[in-house]
Amino acid sequence: MGAGRYAPSPSGDLHVGNLRTAMLAWLFARCSDRELILRMEDLDTARTVAGSEQRQLEDLQALGLTFDRVSPRQSERLEVYTQALDTLRQRGLLYECFCTRRDILDAPRAPHTPPGAYPGTCRNLSEQERATRRRARPAAWRLRTDGGQNTVQDRLLGPITSAIDDVVVVRNDGTPAYNLAVVVDDHLSGVNQVVRADDLASSSPRQAHLRGLLYGDAARDEVEYAHVPLVINAQGARLAKRDGAVTLRSLLDAGYSAERVRHLLLGSLGLPADSLESALGAFDADALPSEPWVFTPPS
Ligand code: GLU
Repeated sequence: MGAGRYAPSPSGDLHVGNLRTAMLAWLFARCSDRELILRMEDLDTARTVAGSEQRQLEDLQALGLTFDRVSPRQSERLEVYTQALDTLRQRGLLYECFCTRRDILDAPRAPHTPPGAYPGTCRNLSEQERATRRRARPAAWRLRTDGGQNTVQDRLLGPITSAIDDVVVVRNDGTPAYNLAVVVDDHLSGVNQVVRADDLASSSPRQAHLRGLLYGDAARDEVEYAHVPLVINAQGARLAKRDGAVTLRSLLDAGYSAERVRHLLLGSLGLPADSLESALGAFDADALPSEPWVFTPPS
C-alpha cells in the first residue's frame, strides 16, 4: 500500500504544532495500511541544532508515535540527489542562476510572471556571460520550466493549483535544495502519502511536477496529499518557541505528563483521547477540523 512519512527538520525541539502534524501523519498512514517513515531533513546545516534529532525521536516516542522505518538522514544521501540532478542536467532541464534575492526582486517581470516566481533573468545566458558571472558569485541551479500551472488533489484542501516555476534545485553553496531532496526521497522510499503542515501546500504542485519529470507520470499521480492546519497562538500567529511552554519538553517541565499532551492533541482533532488506538478506530479524515488550532501554553 506504499508509505507515509513524517519529515521534521532537526532544528530544535518539536512544539505542539509539529507533534500534531506527526500525529496526523501517523493516523493517516495507519488507517490506510501504509508504512510510516521518519525522515530527518538536515540539509540546511545552518538551522540544524546538535542533539535535536535524538530529542525529537524521544518526544515522538513519548507520545506513542511509532515508525516502521527511519530513513537515512538527507545529509547522508548526497549521492542520490546528485544522480537525480545529473538526469535533469543531461536532459537540458537545469541552468545556472547567479541572482541574489535583491536581483530577483528588482528584475523586470513579464506581465504573465506569477508573483514570487523567478523572473527568468539567468535562463538564457550565453556561455560567455555565465563564465563572467561565475567569477563574481557561485551559481545556484534552477529547473527550466515552460511556466504554466499544475494542480494536485489534497485530501483536506481539495485541488491545490500553483505556478510551476524555475525552482532552485541546488543552492549556491552546492547543497541540494529542499524541493529536490523531498521529491527524490519520497519517491525512492516508496512514499505515496504526504501529510504535512498546510504552509507547504503551495509547494506541492511544483514538487509533483518535479516528481513526474524524474520518475514519470504514474509516480507523480500516485501521491495522496493531506495538508493539515497549523497550530496558532492566541494572537492568531503561527505557534513559535517564543510563545512559552509549547514544546513537549517545556510542557513536561510545567507539570504536564506526555499522556496529557497526547490527550490535548487528540482532543484538538476531535478524536477520542484515551489512546492512539481508539483515536485510530474513530479517525475520519473528512471530519477533521479545518481551522487552525489555537494553543495557549500554561503560564
Ligand atoms: N522538513 C520540513 C519541515 O520541517 C517538512 C517537509 C515536508 O514535509 O515535505 O518543515
